[in-house]
Amino acid sequence: MKCRYQIVVLVALLFSACAFGAVRKEIRIPDITGYRTLKCDFHMHTVFSDGNVWPTVRVDEAWREGLDAIAISDHIEYHPHKGDIPTNHARPYEIAAPRAKDLNILLIRAAEITRDTPPGHYNALFVKDIAALDIKDFLTQIKAANDQGAFVFWNHPGWKQSKPDESYWFDIHKTLVDGKLIQGIEPFNGDEYYKDAHTWAGQYNLTLMGNSDEHSPFDPPTENHANHRTMTLVFAKDRSLDAIREALNAGRTAVWAMNQIAGKEEFLKPLFESSVEFMPVHHRSGTTAILEIRNKSDVPFELGRKRTDKPLVLEPNSTTILKPTVNKETGKADLKFEVRNLLIEPDKGLPITVTISAP
Ligand SMILES: [Zn+2]
Ligand SMILES: [Zn+2]
Repeated sequence: MKCRYQIVVLVALLFSACAFGAVRKEIRIPDITGYRTLKCDFHMHTVFSDGNVWPTVRVDEAWREGLDAIAISDHIEYHPHKGDIPTNHARPYEIAAPRAKDLNILLIRAAEITRDTPPGHYNALFVKDIAALDIKDFLTQIKAANDQGAFVFWNHPGWKQSKPDESYWFDIHKTLVDGKLIQGIEPFNGDEYYKDAHTWAGQYNLTLMGNSDEHSPFDPPTENHANHRTMTLVFAKDRSLDAIREALNAGRTAVWAMNQIAGKEEFLKPLFESSVEFMPVHHRSGTTAILEIRNKSDVPFELGRKRTDKPLVLEPNSTTILKPTVNKETGKADLKFEVRNLLIEPDKGLPITVTISAP
């Protein structure tokens, strides 16, 4: 009897696995010492504002793409589908939450405060009551989000810039930064990059964010993640909502956008070191040493000595042969590179030095 029961359970499990009918593609970006590297997207829309998908679809997509956490952030003030979908600020989270539990996706209750520029758009994460934030006066609204304990960041800061060279920093932004009413900034939004906003993240100690801001369904993930969505990497103490919240407050993030990762040197250096392994020299002939470099991550790394050099690209999940020149007598060399696509600030790659010693 016991045996038959086990078979029934097994068959039931197989059926429930098949019912979802999809495969999760894990993202290979390693943890760094002391922290889990969580893959997160804190900005996306559904039919409850101007998006084109149902909230549960956002959870399914995140699961398939290997994400850990998402925030559905429908606009508070903009509801173009309201003739068909009644305005109900609480529903996107409520609908998505059971699906997120089933698929082990961390779901954050969020909303997008949506104003003309300036002040622009702001995401409030970890809000308690979105409807209570439907407030006419902007500063009162932002303060109310903060009073709810929200983590607030300035979305796509240079969007709707009237002229390409015109600053998108206004007095209201100084008020927000000085009053600590925003804690983060999103220089990377979908395929857009706002370089000044990237500078301000460092200048004003705002947590660096990068998100998809997707409105349509995502394309299925590809084998090598070449078309991965823009996401925020969060260096969290564990895989939980509380740990994400703590890491965001502490500024422990980086952004993976297209083929580059932006973040503080203190996080990008260990991220590179846990992704790439310089193997011992396996052969030397005079001053030429030969060694392997193994890239165990989904990120291609572009190494260059000078910014004008053609970079050596360490392709994702692959091994590259390097033939450096070493000292004839000692067999040693200090290899100095800039990892060009690991941006520690705008236009500045991560400097690394690797000491090799050939037998
Ligand atoms: Zn927006
Ligand atoms: Zn948006």
